[in-house]
Amino acid sequence: MGYKEIKVGAVTVGGAFPISVQSMCSVPFSRFKELVFQAKELEETGCDILRVSVPDKESAELFGKLKKELKIPLVADIHFDHRLALAAIDAGADKIRINPGNIGTENIKTVVNKAKEHGIPIRVGVNSGSLEKVVLEKYGAPVPEALAESAKKNVEILEKLDFGDIIVSIKSSDVVSTIKSYRIFDSINSGRYPLHVGVTEAGTLKSGLIKNSVGIGALLLEGIGSTIRYSLSAPPNEEITAAKTLLRALGLRKEGVEIIACPTCGRTTIDVTELADELENKLTGVKKRFKVAVMGCVVNGPGEAAEADIGVTGAAGKYVVFKKENGKTIVVLKDADRKTATDFIINAAKENER
Ligand code: SF4
Repeated sequence: MGYKEIKVGAVTVGGAFPISVQSMCSVPFSRFKELVFQAKELEETGCDILRVSVPDKESAELFGKLKKELKIPLVADIHFDHRLALAAIDAGADKIRINPGNIGTENIKTVVNKAKEHGIPIRVGVNSGSLEKVVLEKYGAPVPEALAESAKKNVEILEKLDFGDIIVSIKSSDVVSTIKSYRIFDSINSGRYPLHVGVTEAGTLKSGLIKNSVGIGALLLEGIGSTIRYSLSAPPNEEITAAKTLLRALGLRKEGVEIIACPTCGRTTIDVTELADELENKLTGVKKRFKVAVMGCVVNGPGEAAEADIGVTGAAGKYVVFKKENGKTIVVLKDADRKTATDFIINAAKENER
C-alpha cells in the first residue's frame, strides 16, 4: 500500500508524487537579509521544501516576512517551545517540525488545533541525539528499535488528538542504524504516513555525501521514503545538488543535466576532470533533462555519446563533439579547442531548455 498523500503548501508528499528535495537554511533570522538571499538561492537551485529554525520570538516574528519572499513551501523547525509553533503557524508556516512528546499534553493539543485550523501537517522528527528519557532508559542506547518506538509514540500522541496530517523522520548519524530504524518503523507505520528520509549530522561534503547517498539511496530502492534531505556540513546548495543527483541516478527524477565522465587513463590527451567539472558547474541551473558524456579518448567516446544527448572526447589534444540527431550520432565539431567545445555544449543544453 502506498503512502498517504500529505500537502505541504503546493507540494504533495507521499502517494505517487515525485520524491521531493528539502534543505534547511544555515543563516539565522538575526541576519535577515543574508537569510533571504540564501533561501532564494536554494529555491533557485531546485529546493522543493525549505526549512528554517525558529528558536525564539524574534525568529517567529520574521517568519512571515521570509515566507513572502519565497514561492516554495516554508517549514518551521521548533524545539520544546509550543508558543513558537503557534506563532510560526499564524505567520503562514506550511508545515511544522516538532516532537509532540517534548512539549507536554496540553501544549500539543493547542498546537494540533492550530495546525488543523490552518490545514498544515506536522513532521515528527525523531533523532538519535534527542530521544525521550523513557525510551532511552528502556533500550539503554539509541538503537534502531528505540528510534522506531519513539516515532510510533509521537505519532500516537497526534492520532489520539484525531490528527493525521503527519510526516515522519527517524534519523541517526549512523547509516546502518538509520536504515534499520526506517525499516522497523515502516513495518509498523499503520497510518502509512510518508517518510522524510535522511542521515542526520552526516558530516562534510566528502564523508557526508557518501553516508547520505548510501542511507537515503538504500531506503529509496526499497520503496521507503517520499521526501529527502541530505544533511551536510557544507553550504546548503550542495544538499540540493546532491539530492537531485541521487534521484537522477536512481531514475526517480529525470530533470537536470547528468554528466557521464570517464575516469581517464593513459590514453587521454585532454583534462577530463576539469572539463567535466566546468560543464557540471555551468549547467547547474538547467532544469530540463540533458545528458552529457565527457570521455578522454575515442575508445569509448562515441559509444557513450550514443547514450547521451551530446558527447565530447579527446583526440590528439583536440576535442571532438558528438550529437544525437534523429536517433543517429554525428560529429558536429572536429579538431575543436577546449573553449569552442565547451561553449558548444553549454549552448546545446540551453537550447534544449527552450
Ligand atoms: S574513455 Fe579512453 S581515456 Fe577514458 S578511461 Fe576509457 S580508454 Fe581511458
